[in-house]
Amino acid sequence: MAEFIRIVGARENNLKNVSLTIPKRKITVFTGVSGSGKSSIVFDTIAAEAQRQLNETFTAFARTFLPSYGHPDVDTIENISAAIVVDQKRIAGNSRSTVGTITDIAPLLRLLFSRAGEPYVGYSNAFSFNDPQGMCPRCDGIGRITTLDLDAFLDRSKSLNEGALRHPDFKVGSWYWQMYAGSGYFDNDKPLAEYTDTEWELLLHGTGKVPVEWQGGTINSTYEGIVVRFTRVYINKDAATMSDRNREIFERFTRSETCPECAGARLNAKALSCRINGHNIAEMSALEVTELVEVLRRIDAPQAGPVLESLIDRLGDLVTIGLGYLTLDRPTATLSGGESQRVKMVRHLASSLVDMTYIFDEPSVGLHPRDVDRLKKLLVKLRDKGNTVLVVEHDPDVIEIADHVIDVGPRAGAHGGEIVYSGDVAGLHEADTLTGRFLRHATPMKTEYRTPTGRLTIRDASLHNLKNVTVDIPTGVLTVVTGVAGSGKSTLINEVFLAEHPEAIAIDQSAVAANRRSNLTTYTGILDPIRRLFAKANGVSPSLFSANSAGACPDCQGLGVIYTDLAFMEGVKSTCETCAGRRFKEEVLAYRLRGRSISDVLEMSAAEALEFFTERKIRDVLRAVNDVGLDYLRLGQPLSTLSGGECQRVKLATELHKQGSVYVMDEPTTGLHMSDVSHLLGVIDRLVDQGNTVVVIEHNLDVIKHADWIIDLGPEGGSAGGEVVFTGTPAELLEFPHSHTAAALREHAG
Ligand code: ADP
Ligand code: ADP
Ligand code: ZN
Ligand code: ZN
Repeated sequence: MAEFIRIVGARENNLKNVSLTIPKRKITVFTGVSGSGKSSIVFDTIAAEAQRQLNETFTAFARTFLPSYGHPDVDTIENISAAIVVDQKRIAGNSRSTVGTITDIAPLLRLLFSRAGEPYVGYSNAFSFNDPQGMCPRCDGIGRITTLDLDAFLDRSKSLNEGALRHPDFKVGSWYWQMYAGSGYFDNDKPLAEYTDTEWELLLHGTGKVPVEWQGGTINSTYEGIVVRFTRVYINKDAATMSDRNREIFERFTRSETCPECAGARLNAKALSCRINGHNIAEMSALEVTELVEVLRRIDAPQAGPVLESLIDRLGDLVTIGLGYLTLDRPTATLSGGESQRVKMVRHLASSLVDMTYIFDEPSVGLHPRDVDRLKKLLVKLRDKGNTVLVVEHDPDVIEIADHVIDVGPRAGAHGGEIVYSGDVAGLHEADTLTGRFLRHATPMKTEYRTPTGRLTIRDASLHNLKNVTVDIPTGVLTVVTGVAGSGKSTLINEVFLAEHPEAIAIDQSAVAANRRSNLTTYTGILDPIRRLFAKANGVSPSLFSANSAGACPDCQGLGVIYTDLAFMEGVKSTCETCAGRRFKEEVLAYRLRGRSISDVLEMSAAEALEFFTERKIRDVLRAVNDVGLDYLRLGQPLSTLSGGECQRVKLATELHKQGSVYVMDEPTTGLHMSDVSHLLGVIDRLVDQGNTVVVIEHNLDVIKHADWIIDLGPEGGSAGGEVVFTGTPAELLEFPHSHTAAALREHAG
């Protein structure tokens, strides 16, 4: 069997014609600063080629239903096996997708009930909320129902003639309105508040045939009360198929509530009546996984022995990976990125496929150092089953388990795209690369702390697992919120604190702009001054230099590339032939500013642009962009191509001049190399020194060591967490005996 994946001449994005070999059935970790080209190798080259080769194996007919993958820009790739990407994308799921269904643990639990439940009910389908046999008939297995919100729909102070029906389709004079006003059932001038019980009943729930006066004639029509009609016409339609306008209206006039029939359990009465040791299947699915394992261990049912065993095994994987605080009935749509990735990992661990290539994108995201050890064990388990494991990772602890390391650099963007080291971990520690250097040098613990200027108090917070938490957040300093996954950090900060302090600014990793036309210059507002400079230098109108003007290339509308969207297929991107990627018409390109065309300027990196421009307003923005470590970004690169970490730093750059604000960041080190982290800390220090308050949720020990104040939550995840374990300085935490964070700090202390 071929022992290596061989890649020759890779050129995706910033890759400089690189060649590399990757040992098969081993763990290879890709390191390097953010923007160096790790994803370009792993996702855009290896995963893309594996997927393309897989698609080639389908018939031409089947392929028309699959997304089409172009050849990645690479000379050859040999010995690649089918690849599975386990990334941090949220699990797109409807309300029927839960932790139980996505991990395939739910079917095992159903099997257990069909074998060992009392009274015996039948096949395991009878316990499925996705099967007509098991689902609650009222909510169709969703657990929630949508009803007409009469308070929103009706203005009780008005009569029908005055417009008591607020929905636009029922406005005075419309056909629906006429149905009520022309029915003869009501006094059209009487305010609804004065209706008798009979009139209410007719208005809301009545049915029957009535002659309705309409446009001068009389039509015999079916009368339906408002609730009946609204339910038939609107609620029974799939909201996903509605137009944006209709969905908006729909949401304004409806409310969602727990299903009264199943109380949210999603199953019908028969399924819920079946029990094992007193628990029905909905109750078991609502237990935290760690508790569920205990309940299952106490079951004595020889006829279900093998099922019980594999259930306990699979749940054990969830616990091992630090997700023991989740419940099987948790909708996947509510999981964080890190949780989603680990849930997907559990699904793959159970699979019996071998000789696959598994690709992980920073699996340590969201994991406390305590749980990183368990993650490492799972990666090793996957390798030992005979798979090739590729991991993009920055955490020194995870890098340690690599059989092979590929360090990409030396820096980011145009200054990266090369392999600067490949070999074992010991060699990486000696290597003269940024990664090697940072592995050798430990960040010192901060010993001088800023003095708070005041405090913001969170009082009696009890959302999710929080146990009546009251805690002060000091202002004017850097506070780091720590604790194992599931301890309640996001609940406390992102939900409770942000809800109480809407003036606080959350800087997250979500996309900055969905639009292909937005880039650094449009987002930061420097495109306008740049256009005016060009206009002034050439005595023409500034509008010639914008992407949607008469000056732009008519074929690509100033994008330089053409996107072809095809039904069923991923869009294809190609350089615009008309302008050869230069975005503007020839005559516009002839206008120069200090010898450069507008197209040349958009091709500049932020660092080059900082040298080119002398104007203060433009320079302030560019300096901020450079300060957050995005010096390599080209001004014209669409923001839609940025990674989450890059998006977060673009947002930071636009905030750097503010004062007196409160900033909240959730794991800002995601996607960042150790050297990027020290850069980020510099930026945060600047924000705080300018008089801002910064609150950061982090597991990264370098960030924790850099805090002025620490709030540690725990002691564990889920119901065993939700308390403040410690507040104080990093030095005080180091001495504190009862905290997982303290233990991790001691282990990694300088
Ligand atoms: P890493 O994974 O090491 O953070 P990437 O491989 O994502 O780095 O990016 C390498 C470089 O290529 C960066 O300068 C990035 O901005 C650029 N890049 C990534 N994707 C695209 C794209 N779709 N179009 C243009 N440039 C891109
Ligand atoms: P952390 O940020 O420390 O990882 P979280 O605040 O995300 O912890 O979670 C704390 C607890 O609240 C966990 O038990 C988690 O399962 C629960 N939880 C979080 N979000 C939701 C939600 N949307 N629905 C139900 N439970 C939730
Ligand atoms: Zn129901
Ligand atoms: Zn063009």
